[in-house]
Amino acid sequence: MITVAEALALLRANLPQPREEDLPLQEAAGCYLAGEIVAPEPSPRFTNSAMDGYAVRWADVMTTSKERPVTLRIAGESRAGVPFPAAVGPGEAIRISTGAVLPAGADTVIRIEDTSGAEQTVQIFVASRPGQDVRRAGEEFERGAHLLARGSRLGSRQLALLAAVGIDRLRVFAKPRVAIFGTGSELIVDAAQELQPHQIRDSNSIMLVTAVRECGGEVVDCRHAEDDLEATVDALRRMVASGPDLILCSGGVSVGRHDHVKEAAVRVGFAEIFWRVRQKPGKPLFCARQGRMLLFGLPGNPVSAYMCLAHYVRPVLAWLQGRSFGHASMYAKVGEEIGNPGKRPNFLRVTIVEQPGAVPTVAPAAKQGSHMLTSIVQADGYLYLEAGQALLPGALVEVFLL
Ligand code: AMP
Ligand code: MG
Repeated sequence: MITVAEALALLRANLPQPREEDLPLQEAAGCYLAGEIVAPEPSPRFTNSAMDGYAVRWADVMTTSKERPVTLRIAGESRAGVPFPAAVGPGEAIRISTGAVLPAGADTVIRIEDTSGAEQTVQIFVASRPGQDVRRAGEEFERGAHLLARGSRLGSRQLALLAAVGIDRLRVFAKPRVAIFGTGSELIVDAAQELQPHQIRDSNSIMLVTAVRECGGEVVDCRHAEDDLEATVDALRRMVASGPDLILCSGGVSVGRHDHVKEAAVRVGFAEIFWRVRQKPGKPLFCARQGRMLLFGLPGNPVSAYMCLAHYVRPVLAWLQGRSFGHASMYAKVGEEIGNPGKRPNFLRVTIVEQPGAVPTVAPAAKQGSHMLTSIVQADGYLYLEAGQALLPGALVEVFLL
């Protein structure tokens, strides 16, 4: 049996290069950029007004005051989307809306609140400085400026910025394609089907499908097979044919007579990377490779499957999207003493208790059984504890986040 660190190192050494693809902006939400984005045009694109009011020449209004207001002749209007077609002459003002083009000749905007306007003329009461309430072309960024770095996640804010500068196609890391494969003759996959006393419901499929999507992956195939070697080989063959980056199997990787995933994987052309890791839960974890396709044989117990997904599969999904192969974690303080009396290192599920104004503390989830889904539902994260390790109250520990 290998250690957790050795398993991660082997996995790291077998990572395929991430795939890239060009996507329309509309489809890029949640993807990660595969290249830097440089501004194709300045922002703002043209000099415009920051306020509703009047576009004027500073030279005309610089002496104005409440007591001796300047009066200007209104020569036209510049609306958002309908610019004034001529220049502003001496003694003239142009009505202007927020975002409308500042007409030639004007250099300053007087907000409507600082004026008293009639149809033909407008009185200006306040003018503080030349260029006030004008948004200059390029004041945010010039053409050629760096906008987004390679590896940036494309959320609503980033997509808005790209739309604003007219970028409608992007090079991103392709969403990892994942096939999900459940095994076990005791499982009822169709929830509507009546359950016999010796049967259980499939919970791993929906867990793995959802976890893959939560991590930015795309589920391209999902199937189930009985504990039968030929059926397992057949299902794996069909999954390989759908061209996934990753196949996630659950169950059938232990040492039982009816565990066929390893043999079936080898039969369809996978080469073992490792099998069995000194850890609890998740000892039977199996990992194999065929070309750039990785296969994980996750243990069947739902908690074991999930913990292996969290510690081994999630970093692969991150890597395939151009991010680093690693874990999301934070530091917290141990509340009551926490120990691992077992013979194997333990992924101990914990809850994180916020402490106003202080470092959060962790407490072990009440039930830790690898068949007890409540242990991962209640937990916020998990600690890695060596066999025999004890953590004293107040110790700072790394908490891997679920
Ligand atoms: P196995 O690794 O196939 O021996 O399975 C270990 C345990 O996990 C058994 O109790 C199985 O019934 C259970 N198990 C396997 N697959 C699933 C699944 N898809 N949903 C829920 N429990 C499962
Ligand atoms: Mg089984």
